[in-house]
Amino acid sequence: MKKLISSIVSALSIFALSFSLTATAKSAEFFTIGTGGPTGVYFQTGNAICKMLHKSAISADHGRKGGAAKAYRCTAPSTGGSNYNIGQIKEGEFQFGVAQSDWQFHAVNGSSKWEGKKFPELRAVFSVHNEPFQIWASKKAKATKFKDLKGKVVNIGNPGSGQRGTMETLMDAMKVNNSYFKSVTELTSSEQVKALCDGKIDAFGYSVGFPNGAMEQAATCAAKAMPINLTGKEVQKLIDGAAYYAKATIPAGTYTGQKKDVTTFGVKATVVTSANVSEELVYLVTKAVFENFDDFKKQHPAFSFLQKKDMIKDGLSAPLHPGAIKYYKEAGLL
Ligand code: GLU
Repeated sequence: MKKLISSIVSALSIFALSFSLTATAKSAEFFTIGTGGPTGVYFQTGNAICKMLHKSAISADHGRKGGAAKAYRCTAPSTGGSNYNIGQIKEGEFQFGVAQSDWQFHAVNGSSKWEGKKFPELRAVFSVHNEPFQIWASKKAKATKFKDLKGKVVNIGNPGSGQRGTMETLMDAMKVNNSYFKSVTELTSSEQVKALCDGKIDAFGYSVGFPNGAMEQAATCAAKAMPINLTGKEVQKLIDGAAYYAKATIPAGTYTGQKKDVTTFGVKATVVTSANVSEELVYLVTKAVFENFDDFKKQHPAFSFLQKKDMIKDGLSAPLHPGAIKYYKEAGLL
């Protein structure tokens, strides 16, 4: 009898378990956050956002009475970067993406690479870390300034990445084109460090938060690479001419062998979405990050300087999404 009861109980619990799994599967809505290369900071950013959302979904018990109408589950795959992400949001393939502040501006205004492809429905959620634009050159290349890259093999980045666009903007400002270099490559951010370490390229351009493990690898591998200073009147003109650029410094000692501050210009990493994404989802994503802020900041050392009051305005040129506004008002931030 005891045996019979226990087998009925276990059969019932298997039934209950499978029922609850089906219920979860039915009510969960999946969405995607576009990031960048697997060794960059965007990939960590997207995954940290998902982690905060899933964590708060457990505590708020989304999908039950009193919680949100649906349970949301997110994934943050590695992608080609800023412009690719914005393009995928425009197509409705991604619901969110991480993107540089310069490309957020150009996409919503239909300028630069976004000329003729304006995306007025692009919406800002918040900004994250600073991304100094960095040109890392191997020791052998003996480059200390942009002009020293003449006749060198330079990785300008994969099409779709933010750094590719910003590198081209810098090249325009310097009045040079690809023929200024010996040759150019279009490697992704995760391929470029290996190519530099293997001596296949002399330098690469990358806009990325710091400290970054892949850059430390560039500093310590056979190339003994360092970022060069990007200063002078051409760079100053870029900074003066656009609200989305600012002077940026990578402090001495950030990377092994880095004896001096590196001065350059930079952008902000920002999280963007579309006006077509629901207010409920954007509200929950924003709330999850801001209400688990200490934990979020621990997800990457580049987040250690984040301040809530800056994140709701710095580097944002697209209008804030109503879901984000709802949370910021509720939290007294707006
Ligand atoms: N800023 C780069 C881009 O927009 C990505 C940097 C990263 O992956 O952290 O493509």
